[in-house]
Amino acid sequence: MERTLNNDLPAAVGKTVKIAGWVDVRRDHGKLIFLDIRDRSGIVQVVVTPKAAEALETAKELRAQWVVEIEGEVKARPENMRSEGALGGVEVGVQKIAILSRAHELPFELGTDVNIDTHLDNLPLTLRSARSRDIFTMQSAILGAYRTSLREQGFTEFIAPALVGGDAEGGAAAFKVDYYYDQTAYLATSPQFYKQIMVGPFERAFTVAKIFRAEKSATTRHLSEATCLDFEMGFIENEREPMKVLENTIRYTVEQVTKEHGDIFARFGTTAPLMPAEIPILTLKDALQTLGKAEAPDMEPEDERAICEWAKKEKDSDFVFITRYPTKKRAFYTYEEPSEAPYSRGFDLLFRGLEINSGAQRIHDYDTLVARMNDRGLDPGKFSYYLQAFKYGLPPHGGSSTGLERFTARMLEIPNVKEATAFPRDINRIDTRLSE
Ligand code: ATP
Ligand code: MG
Repeated sequence: MERTLNNDLPAAVGKTVKIAGWVDVRRDHGKLIFLDIRDRSGIVQVVVTPKAAEALETAKELRAQWVVEIEGEVKARPENMRSEGALGGVEVGVQKIAILSRAHELPFELGTDVNIDTHLDNLPLTLRSARSRDIFTMQSAILGAYRTSLREQGFTEFIAPALVGGDAEGGAAAFKVDYYYDQTAYLATSPQFYKQIMVGPFERAFTVAKIFRAEKSATTRHLSEATCLDFEMGFIENEREPMKVLENTIRYTVEQVTKEHGDIFARFGTTAPLMPAEIPILTLKDALQTLGKAEAPDMEPEDERAICEWAKKEKDSDFVFITRYPTKKRAFYTYEEPSEAPYSRGFDLLFRGLEINSGAQRIHDYDTLVARMNDRGLDPGKFSYYLQAFKYGLPPHGGSSTGLERFTARMLEIPNVKEATAFPRDINRIDTRLSE
């Protein structure tokens, strides 16, 4: 018999089917045993009665997370008899149970509130919880929508390298790697140089890239290994064009996840993000003024939270762009706004209190870029590879980078970005705790 998925059972009422999955819960009621069985499509309740004597003996052995294959008859069931989280309308009357895999006793009941360390110490188990499945279902949908939207806007996806010869950001701490011939390589802190190079062949290019940052601080928004949704586009007038592409992409992503996963927002006690016709844009100066703060070269985390509250209240938006950061606070390749020097054409996108994206128009002229490197004390000789892109003709261009984990975390209002990362790496762990 072929396997039927749980969410196809309502169409199979009256038929005998085979289902397979994990035991979520076992409930004993006198002579009956009820099991909630989880597969990739959902959870269904099955009932084992003394009529199926052999199956009942097997059922008595079952515990949470055992993997089983069950044959039985699909029956319609009144809505009010449905267990929480289980698909409504049907249950399976069990005839046969085969055990595919036995689970050891669980260290705690899945779905109970555990602290983040316990969660992370037991990921192969805790990732199976309804909460984690929701988070990574959402993340997968975000990733899919992001890609679709950029492709529809004329972007070509490419793969950026994770091993690089130098640090692209020239600031973010990089991990060193022993390479061949006694050379030191680094783990990429950004795909920045490569996506700019890809403007040469494609005009519009994007990548989903791993970035590695040796962040010594332990915060709720920093990982040692993060995933960036990066794009770069040529033939722009200024930074407003990449901002518009980013806005289109974010809007499409929000629309898709709202359509497909409204139930997840509800389970996380939040709603789909507020997305006005146009995301508000504030200069750094105006943002700080709005908050009654003195002029400053950057925003503090509490300023980011406060300006997002302002945008929500005054502009009905969960997103807000901040522009015109001082050029010297941004990466060396950032284009300066000639009419507002020393301010730049860089921007950040804040979402529900947190920076999720940074972008800018970039310097595209070879001589200007070399001069900027010299200004910053960077040796152009070390960037000769990257500089070829400019030597051989590159149009005015710009782009941006969205942190997938931060975007996912704020989408569901999860306080710690680590929970929005399937296998987070931080100062204290690579899978297992490093201090042990
Ligand atoms: P922050 O100032 O918050 O540390 P950043 O400005 O250094 O971040 P960018 O270089 O602008 O980060 O990277 C682009 C995006 O990538 C960020 O907006 C963020 O969403 C994400 N990102 C960067 N570093 C990390 C990290 N260590 N952990 C998780 N996400 C990150
Ligand atoms: Mg940034």
